[in-house]
Amino acid sequence: DTRTPPVGIVPEDNVIVELCSIECCFSHPLETCLAERSTTVMKFSTAIKEWAKICKNLYVGDYTTDFSNYLAPFPNFNVIRQNARFFAENNVKGLFEQGTYDTLSGEFAELRSYLLSKLLWDPYMTEEDYNTYMCKFLQAYYGAGWRNILSYINLMIKTTEDSHIFIYDNVLKIYPCEDVRYDRNNKPQIPDEAYADVENHDWLQYSKKLRHFENSFIEAAEIYWQAAFELCDSDEAKAHLEKLSIQLLACKSAFLGFVKDQGLPWTELQFFIKDKRLEIIDETKKQLDAVIYENNKKLYDLLIKYNITKICEWTALPSNPNLYNEVTAWNQ
Ligand SMILES: [Zn+2]
Repeated sequence: DTRTPPVGIVPEDNVIVELCSIECCFSHPLETCLAERSTTVMKFSTAIKEWAKICKNLYVGDYTTDFSNYLAPFPNFNVIRQNARFFAENNVKGLFEQGTYDTLSGEFAELRSYLLSKLLWDPYMTEEDYNTYMCKFLQAYYGAGWRNILSYINLMIKTTEDSHIFIYDNVLKIYPCEDVRYDRNNKPQIPDEAYADVENHDWLQYSKKLRHFENSFIEAAEIYWQAAFELCDSDEAKAHLEKLSIQLLACKSAFLGFVKDQGLPWTELQFFIKDKRLEIIDETKKQLDAVIYENNKKLYDLLIKYNITKICEWTALPSNPNLYNEVTAWNQ
């Protein structure tokens, strides 16, 4: 353990100590988030404060994207300002903000880079100034309908405010379906109690729970996008909006993949029960596959159009994708 500061020894003034926030949550400020991921390693924000007592020059490697799905929305816009201030107040002299570094981004990398650059100049920026910078950027980059994109950002923050968000999360954890839990491999699993609804043939109850994700997030987001497009006043801004819509298609890709894997009731699809599991009947499966293919084809074409070459840190965009799988499994 090199995170806990030593006792009885201090770094010389010309020594730099670097810490990294790799295990931290980024939907809440580092200092106030209550997520505890390790019982053996000192909490990151505590370690920063302890090191600041004995070291004048701290550097931090910090993270600003979802490295297991670069295309997923990463809801950290409410925390980067507070975190920058926290670092500045605790002797942090060098800050490396690592984002989607090895490809262009289909998410908010442009806006986030702009805001992070401003924060590196002025880590004590007020909330009012931060919001002004954000609005100015959105207006300049996304055109006259920019307020809809701001509403989408606020929706993204609201949807995730009760969840701890880490940098290797499944997108379905970022925008959770109710009653869905995750196994050790970060794959969604339906808990036993949800099967009660299935066995009671309570389709409505069951589908209500599991459509929550799509209804409340994707559908609302699509309405904002449409409004932003309609008001958009230049071809350049339209292209920026189209590129930004990649994150929505990626969310939908993950959701539809989950529906297919777990056999969930969805729209007018028909199901039967087999081994305590919902199976989609063949005809319905074809319909679902058509919906999945259409969404994923649109997503793939935009990734090519906007020269986005990686899906996550370890997966390049395949040249021959399986568009019947969810986006992070296109190479299977
Ligand atoms: Zn948290």
